[in-house]
Amino acid sequence: MKNRVEALSEIEKQGFDLCVIGGGATGAGCALDAQLRGLRTVLIEAEDFACASSSSSTKLVHGGVRYLQQAIYERDPGQYHVVKRALRERKIMLDNAPFLAHPLEFMVPCFSWSETGYYRIGMKLYDWISGRNMLFRSRHFSKGESLRRMPILNPDRLVGSIAYADGQFDDSRYNLALLHTFAKAGGEALNYARVVGFMKNGKGQLIQARVHDGLSSHYLNVRAGAFINATGPFADGIRELAKPGIGRRLRLSKGSHILLPMDAATCQDALLVPKTDDGRVIFAIPWLGRLLVGTTDEETTLQDETVVKEEEAKYLIKQLNRYLARPLSKNQIVSGFAGMRPLVASDISRGTKELIRDHEVEVESSSGLISVLGGKWTTYRAMAEDAIDTVMQRLTMPVVRCSTKNHRLAGSEGWKPNFWEELVQEYGVPPATAWHLSQKFGAAAKEVLELTKDNPGLKDPLAVGSPSVLAEVVYGARQEMATSIEDILARRTGLQLFSWMQARSAAPTVGVVLARELGWSSNQQKEAVEEYTDKINRLMRLAGLRPGIG
Ligand SMILES: Cc1cc2nc3c(=O)[nH]c(=O)nc-3n(C[C@H](O)[C@H](O)[C@H](O)COP(=O)(O)OP(=O)(O)OC[C@H]3O[C@@H](n4cnc5c(N)ncnc54)[C@H](O)[C@@H]3O)c2cc1C
Repeated sequence: MKNRVEALSEIEKQGFDLCVIGGGATGAGCALDAQLRGLRTVLIEAEDFACASSSSSTKLVHGGVRYLQQAIYERDPGQYHVVKRALRERKIMLDNAPFLAHPLEFMVPCFSWSETGYYRIGMKLYDWISGRNMLFRSRHFSKGESLRRMPILNPDRLVGSIAYADGQFDDSRYNLALLHTFAKAGGEALNYARVVGFMKNGKGQLIQARVHDGLSSHYLNVRAGAFINATGPFADGIRELAKPGIGRRLRLSKGSHILLPMDAATCQDALLVPKTDDGRVIFAIPWLGRLLVGTTDEETTLQDETVVKEEEAKYLIKQLNRYLARPLSKNQIVSGFAGMRPLVASDISRGTKELIRDHEVEVESSSGLISVLGGKWTTYRAMAEDAIDTVMQRLTMPVVRCSTKNHRLAGSEGWKPNFWEELVQEYGVPPATAWHLSQKFGAAAKEVLELTKDNPGLKDPLAVGSPSVLAEVVYGARQEMATSIEDILARRTGLQLFSWMQARSAAPTVGVVLARELGWSSNQQKEAVEEYTDKINRLMRLAGLRPGIG
């Protein structure tokens, strides 16, 4: 990606065919699709890329077994089609960035033979709907095999388990990989730039977006032939800017996750807890050295803070403990995160848990704004395809065929599962660092490590025991528009998810490197570290943890 200053000047100079508002999965997917079809495209993000829902997912690339269950119970063909399409997209998502997404086996514990039969049939159906996109077949494990694979399970009353396949991915890095691929194709992207208004032509159609640059506090105008609103949970706000009084389309649902050390609950597969107290499912998934547990599902509004609250952490621990041999305690939590699901409000009488995770491309005819509403991470590409087909029709251009199905993302070319070994040999980094960089950057890990050739100090870890190195901070600032400590620790390196305490201890070091890269004064550097430290302390307190204890 360009650096921010260069990107700003390019964006101000040019007019574009398409302006995509929002830099999460939907916006990045739309921007890439459009640019590959030959549209000159700019993407404008109000805060950091992937800072909202797209870094707060459960990190599943899935059709959704729960939605399949709903489809059957409610004889709802709509739900069935959402699952079928997501299963097709699951395979594409895994194939296009294999360093960021991979298949994973999920186990559903069964406590009676009737339950075993029920899940066995359900998962066979899931396999069948996947068709040629199946990752691997579902299977039955005896009680002994289930406990061998997942020793944390409570053996009382357990009769066995059903295992099935879905995908798992690194959401914020996948989002960044989409943006790198977009930039390589010639697109322009800018973070910390908020759309605050529009200008219209005599017919009332949008021709310019008024954008506030959050770093310089200046305003700029972005000219384009079409505007896509890909702002996820915030989409009603942009719709209101384009057409005041238009009325809301979204309902929001908050989901919280917690992370626990793997030694508290060692397992190689993921666990699906099939029944929570409120009739949902939750997952406990091994994820980059931690056990990720989530999620809650409660209706929310934009005014509510999307942070993990103590009662949510307790709820997740309680639901999981019902299935475990050795109960976990809230004090073992090392980190957490929460996000808002943007759901299309098709039926106001339904709870958010029951709303279909389908998407809709809405064209507001008087202004021409195209809003991409709802959906889920797994279907980001299909959503983008629908949206860009619509854009091309509106621009009265011949519709060029979408090419994202087989377009490998930046970092995939030349990557293979043992790529990390090359990094150890070529750059002399420890295996844990090589593995971490290979998983996060794919083949582009070499670009990160090239920085250490002139400056071997950049091989130093961000915090004691962390595989992340200082070179990632430099790369983040130069190639990925990272402008704050949180940008680096939450979304570029992922250290904030691994451990709040470790991320907090890394903040001063990250501050020093960013100050050098971004030209901060010593006061700005001090303030950035204090601000980040306060934020982490607050997150810990709200989750019911004592900030001083790690
Ligand atoms: C708890 C939870 C768990 C989930 N788990 C999964 C899962 O396991 N698998 C799955 O497939 N899906 C999952 N999802 C769904 C998935 O995360 C979302 O559907 C997806 O990330 C939405 O992406 P988006 O780009 O539409 O929205 P977002 O990622 O929220 O992006 C919208 C962006 O628009 C920006 N923006 C807002 N206003 C403006 C403005 N005025 N100007 C410029 N930019 C603006 C925001 O800053 C934001 O970055 C989950 C969601 C949640 C909340």
